Amino acid sequence: MENSFQILVKGLVQGVGFRPFIYKVATSFSLRGTVENRNDGVKIILQGDSNSLKDFLDILNTQSPPASHITSVKVDTIQHDVFYDFRILKSRNVSDEITMVSPDIGVCNDCLTDMIVQEPRINYPFTNCTNCGPRFTIIEQLPYDRPNTTMQKFEMCSFCKNEYEDVQNRRFHAQPVACKNCGPHYTLHHEEGEINDQEDIITRMSSFLSEGKIIAVKGLGGFFLACDATNAEAVGRLRSIKKREGKPFAVMFADINAVRKYASVSISEENALRSWKRPIVLVKSKGKLAHDVSMDFPTIGAMLPYMPFHYLLFDNIEIDALVLTSGNLSDEPILIHNNVALETFLPICDAVLTYNRKIQNRVDDSLLQLVLGKEMLLRRSRGFVPAPIILDLNVDGIMAVGAELVNCFCMGKSNQAILSQHIGDLKNLETYEFFSESISRYKKLFRIEPELVVADMHPEYLSTKYAIETNLPILQVQHHHAHIVSVMAEHKLDEKVIGIAFDGVGYGDDGKIWGGEFLVCNIDSYKRETFFDYQAMPGGDQATMNPWRMAISYLYGVYGRKLLDLKLPFMKEVDPNTLEMVIQMMEKKINCPLTSSAGRLFDAVAALTGLCTRSTFHAEAPMRLESLINEDITESYAYSLKETIVLKPMIKEIVYDLQNSIPVSTISAKFHNTIIQITLEVSEKLRKKIALNKVVLSGGTFQNKYILQRMLTELAARNFEVYINEKVPCNDGGIALGQLAIAAKRKL
Ligand code: ZN
Ligand code: ZN
Ligand code: FE
Repeated sequence: MENSFQILVKGLVQGVGFRPFIYKVATSFSLRGTVENRNDGVKIILQGDSNSLKDFLDILNTQSPPASHITSVKVDTIQHDVFYDFRILKSRNVSDEITMVSPDIGVCNDCLTDMIVQEPRINYPFTNCTNCGPRFTIIEQLPYDRPNTTMQKFEMCSFCKNEYEDVQNRRFHAQPVACKNCGPHYTLHHEEGEINDQEDIITRMSSFLSEGKIIAVKGLGGFFLACDATNAEAVGRLRSIKKREGKPFAVMFADINAVRKYASVSISEENALRSWKRPIVLVKSKGKLAHDVSMDFPTIGAMLPYMPFHYLLFDNIEIDALVLTSGNLSDEPILIHNNVALETFLPICDAVLTYNRKIQNRVDDSLLQLVLGKEMLLRRSRGFVPAPIILDLNVDGIMAVGAELVNCFCMGKSNQAILSQHIGDLKNLETYEFFSESISRYKKLFRIEPELVVADMHPEYLSTKYAIETNLPILQVQHHHAHIVSVMAEHKLDEKVIGIAFDGVGYGDDGKIWGGEFLVCNIDSYKRETFFDYQAMPGGDQATMNPWRMAISYLYGVYGRKLLDLKLPFMKEVDPNTLEMVIQMMEKKINCPLTSSAGRLFDAVAALTGLCTRSTFHAEAPMRLESLINEDITESYAYSLKETIVLKPMIKEIVYDLQNSIPVSTISAKFHNTIIQITLEVSEKLRKKIALNKVVLSGGTFQNKYILQRMLTELAARNFEVYINEKVPCNDGGIALGQLAIAAKRKL
């Protein structure tokens, strides 16, 4: 027996080159012992002098592999049989706890070099190592070992096996290790047949893309549709294939220089683009791509190559910008199965590129924007999922099912919130299946058996109905309270705050539709302090799809039927009979639910100004309104603060501006400034009344960068401490985290 140190490391430490790293460090200090992957983390036993142990811990804490993330290191002194060397032990199931499953990691520079110099990996498009490659997309169950992944059917050749077993090698225990001789390969399907030779595939793809053709390409987490982003005809055709009228397409650029050629990028945007997570980053367009890529929006959703194949492709074509949009038709989830993709895309695209490794878990590309230099996630998927968010709360055994339109669910394991990838709109049948299937998978993968389920208060949400059908004890929470708490959970705030939720629509506890709310709340309860005056939503969901209806509603609130005399230009776009019907609906109060929604208010102003009378995709109207702001305008409109926030004076002034041909860019700026002004004034009032200094902002409206940046700056200038969503989306994709935290607190 000898005095030994037992070290338990928790965090994202599996599948990220952690054990080989430990091996290298331990042997460099002549420490003896073992390292082992366990379900609850990585266990290390060390024998040697205590100075070496100290050095070891220093390096462990400061130089661990790039994609790893340590959340805790626990050191105990134990007695153990004498070791004569240092070894990496085989994984075995140890306890019911889990360690983190790594998200997928963009290909590393060492592997890119190997693709130039290391046969049998020269030009091999599935090259990876312990520092990079697929992870979550291929894992079936824990622990993370090759037989538990979709690499199981590929038997390693002797070359790969030698690397896999060599502790000094960068591919030591790299589960998806592969080469030309033993790993997966691509197949290009086109109308004349199939191509299997990997180099021919690249050549043919290059000529197809240069000719303006559209190719469905299998990525890490699903299929994508690709075409030359500078070819107007190709992009136009892609738009008709996707049946996606106005929603911008993401673009993959050959490298950072290509990004700079087409967009203005800040240092922090470049850093986000280059990170191993390889998200789509919203950047400012220079207007040099085909118009139909971003339509009339001034931004580009940009990303850099992350699979070896992307690099091979860009090396072989003149094109430096490719549209790479999700491979789905309208609202369905992105396709992941080769046979379905072939059936769907071969008849409508020019070719389909598949490979023969199964995608186990579907993930879209993640999307983020930089706000005052900080990353703010708008869609959390590839590269981020399923890394948990560590909370200051015990959320064990709780499952939160999220909202409906932009669904994402969340499961609790001790103090970790495991958020699902972006699921989508549950009203779509295939998406709903993806939702329920993913819940089963997460339960199995992370060994979670929920004892409590938490859902939105909305009785008609399909997620709420799903939660009821589980027959588990259920807790229903208010939508905007959950939005605010999602921020509080992220920032570990457990106190009373001013919560400002500007959002689309959410069910309120008076049965009306909320969405422009000032709350005073803590994690488990809230009080609604004030809100935007209720306004009719003629036709309910019809009003969401047709912003002109909200414009008419706001005008009706001020002018009644006399609104017709205003003869505002946008009214010409509306059928007179339908317009008359909408007015009658409001007069008779038929199918006119009341809403305080900020989203609907933005819709109304976008329609009033003629920018967007009908919406072709979610949040189009507010996006169009934001895209036109003249940032030099500092004025705002009138409003009055009573028990609620009265906006009639603003509507009157907007009408006056429209009648006096004031440019829309000015009106848009004045409107945005008014919303900011209201927020500042109400926050000051609440601070005076309740002595609170912390302000939390959440809800879909805060995807609006102009509003968010100015509010952050102005609130900070008035000495408020302001918190926003960073790790989870401020839209409904982040709501499950708030639901989970509320339930954990109320359970106590
Ligand atoms: Zn690598
Ligand atoms: Zn091999
Ligand atoms: Fe919402």
